[in-house]
Amino acid sequence: RAKGQRGESCCCYEEGMDAAARRRRLLAGDLRQAIARGELHLLYQPQRSLRSGKLSGYEALLRWQHPRLGFIPPDEFIPIAEESGSIFAIGEWVLEEACREAQRWPGGEKVAVNLSAVQFSKPDLVATIHGILAETGLSPRRLELEITETAIIEDKLRALHCLRQMKAMGIGVAIDDFGTGYSSLDTLHSFPFDKIKIDKSFLLLSDTSAQARAIIRAVLALGKSLAIPVLAEGVETEAQLRILENEGCDEAQGYYFGRPGGPPSHPHSDLTQKTAVNT
Ligand code: C2E
Ligand code: MG
Ligand code: MG
Ligand code: MG
Repeated sequence: RAKGQRGESCCCYEEGMDAAARRRRLLAGDLRQAIARGELHLLYQPQRSLRSGKLSGYEALLRWQHPRLGFIPPDEFIPIAEESGSIFAIGEWVLEEACREAQRWPGGEKVAVNLSAVQFSKPDLVATIHGILAETGLSPRRLELEITETAIIEDKLRALHCLRQMKAMGIGVAIDDFGTGYSSLDTLHSFPFDKIKIDKSFLLLSDTSAQARAIIRAVLALGKSLAIPVLAEGVETEAQLRILENEGCDEAQGYYFGRPGGPPSHPHSDLTQKTAVNT
């Protein structure tokens, strides 16, 4: 009986694995057609300067509307795109779309674009970005690339070389999800980052956890001593905003200021009030 039970759970477990693997395989295949079929689009989430109170930019966030399965979150399909190689075409599409869109913004805000670590493995990454800026006419000063430390640890020298070229072009480079993953102080020391983005997990915990608040404080102190502005992501409440203001945080982003939404192209879109655009 015990044996039978084990057999059963073993069988269900494997079936579960199969379903997950099947879904990944299906999504990997469908992702290849997603651009051509117009299933991808970008949403833009506001970033706010806490010093001036003004809007400083928008982060472009990718969305995939699968024709049969509906909305697939980027945390699910980006890793699949990275594994299957679609990330190169998708990453290029995102950059071009975001630059083209930002070029039309009446306020001239910055646009922040996420770059996958895998994209760094392609030798023509910098040339591609250069070409997209030339083609769309967006000033490099208005583009900020968000990268995680994973992009750096793979091939440190190459990544450093790429980042320096990007900076030389006038593009800003932000380190995303700081405090998670492979965060090391060495990274901050060796790379010329323009911004540190504190991972949203610390903000979400900050209401209840003194440790999370201590980490936020430590990252802010670090940014201050290295003269790198710090942006906190995942700000959802007024209380969280107060903490950041008290600690001297430079910028913030989160549902409190606005969810990812449609582009701010409309000349009369009022961004001084809390925007609650649909996701
Ligand atoms: P990320 O770059 O760290 O982006 C921030 C994520 O936090 C976004 O999730 C955003 O919608 C969410 N967020 C913003 N404010 C709040 C808040 O107040 N509370 C909470 N709980 N969440 C908030 P999203 O759009 O689902 O994207 C998830 C991740 O997928 C991104 O994390 C990024 O790593 C990746 N991603 C999204 N778009 C792209 C893209 O175009 N290219 C690449 N390579 N990765 C992308
Ligand atoms: Mg990001
Ligand atoms: Mg992040
Ligand atoms: Mg992230």
